Amino acid sequence: MKIAVEGCAHGELDAIYGAIRCLEERENVKIDLLICCGDFQAVRNEDDLGNLACPAKYRSMNTFWKYYAGKEKAPYPTLFIGGNHEASNHLWELFYGGWVCPNVYFLGFAGVIRFGGVRIGGLSGIYKSHHYHLGHYECQPYSENDMRSIYHIREYDVYRLKKIQEHMDIFLSHDWPRGISAHGNEKRLLKSKPYLEEELLKNTLGSPPAEELLNHLRPSYWFSAHMHTKFAALVSHDGRRRPQSNNGSAEHETTSILRTGGNDQSSMQCTRFLALDKCLPGRDFLQIVDIPTPPNTSMQFEYDEEWLAITKACHSFFPLQRVRAAMPSRPVDLQADRAWVKERLRERGTSAVPSNFVVTAPPYDPTPSTPDRSSSGGMATPRRPRHIANPQTLAFLEMLDLPYLLDHSAKVDRNVSGPWLWPHSRTPDWTLQFDGTPPASSCPSNPSDMGRSASQHRLSSREKPVQSSEEIASALDVSQPVDGEVEDEEEDDYIPL
Ligand SMILES: [Zn+2]
Repeated sequence: MKIAVEGCAHGELDAIYGAIRCLEERENVKIDLLICCGDFQAVRNEDDLGNLACPAKYRSMNTFWKYYAGKEKAPYPTLFIGGNHEASNHLWELFYGGWVCPNVYFLGFAGVIRFGGVRIGGLSGIYKSHHYHLGHYECQPYSENDMRSIYHIREYDVYRLKKIQEHMDIFLSHDWPRGISAHGNEKRLLKSKPYLEEELLKNTLGSPPAEELLNHLRPSYWFSAHMHTKFAALVSHDGRRRPQSNNGSAEHETTSILRTGGNDQSSMQCTRFLALDKCLPGRDFLQIVDIPTPPNTSMQFEYDEEWLAITKACHSFFPLQRVRAAMPSRPVDLQADRAWVKERLRERGTSAVPSNFVVTAPPYDPTPSTPDRSSSGGMATPRRPRHIANPQTLAFLEMLDLPYLLDHSAKVDRNVSGPWLWPHSRTPDWTLQFDGTPPASSCPSNPSDMGRSASQHRLSSREKPVQSSEEIASALDVSQPVDGEVEDEEEDDYIPL
């Protein structure tokens, strides 16, 4: 299987798909899957743009919205994780993963999925120590600080990824695992990014939890972005250093690292790491990776049984408060949940992820005559969106018999005119799916139905009776304040071009 790996996407879907088409022609290859390593910017409209944490000069609609609005169709199955410049309100709707538009799948805040038999895991966001141990407390509408903290990774998600025992083919993180530079050509890295010298000396470049995950999961490949440069490294997990070329061109180094080993036992003991640049002309933002798959493999996204069991087993202590979240002191036993998930997938008859994308917010309308766009250079003044319970998430939780916890307020505005909780929608036509049919019958037809399915999701007898974050907190006795001060003023996590 040929996978095109992209560094930061920054909402430039037209340019990325165009580059892949050129590559296919030039190299005479056929790309089966595109993977984007964060800063995807799934911005649907001006309101999403208002939730994007980045310097104002980089705040631009770019081209994702066209795919969301059905004006363009993603030509390649596309998988992505979140970075530190995202429409986080949109990604929060799909915390467990889901379609952001037809053919483009978000892996979730943490997740594992299979595509063509290849197992791909990932962790969205970037590491900041002062938010790491907290719950996912950010509540819509987001404050300026929430917009910057929501993409800081949380221990809960890393904890879940550390429960994985089975082999991982590919893992994705936006920021690099700490210490990774020591396994590649640091000299070349410092040539392109001289300001990193101190961090390299102190071994503070990168994410410590990602380093822990690298050592635990030992995936065959690890792809990252964030630093806006291309960098390849080979990590040996058996203590033996494998010879690698540090002399030729960057291209030669990358190729030799990606070709190290095959699928034999010894290559299972090393991880081929590759970070890529952002999508800009003349930059190294794209790389084709060839992963052997059995013939006639079905090229579709499929749920991962072990990950579904972990999701189910860890759901009762999903932390949603701004306090230090306690992880279970005793190991979570996955056996019963694994058997349950296996049976549920058997009943379903397939592990395939359903194609159940639906529009949940009005797509951007570039018509200059649209009201409320007279100021700010033709862009409407963004509103801070409220919570939307995405029907894909409700269906996923229903499949696993889990309660819906993503609405912090658990209150739904009953006085809205549109069917999707959007108080100021301009026209109702964006509630149609792309083939022009109305939303699936599983989707609530009015806001009060949505409220019921969100806040009164039925608990089965198998589910532990924990319904709110307060109950979870008190059940786990986690209400103690966080050690030290939590910074309220967040800096921009912007990486220079
Ligand atoms: Zn970026």
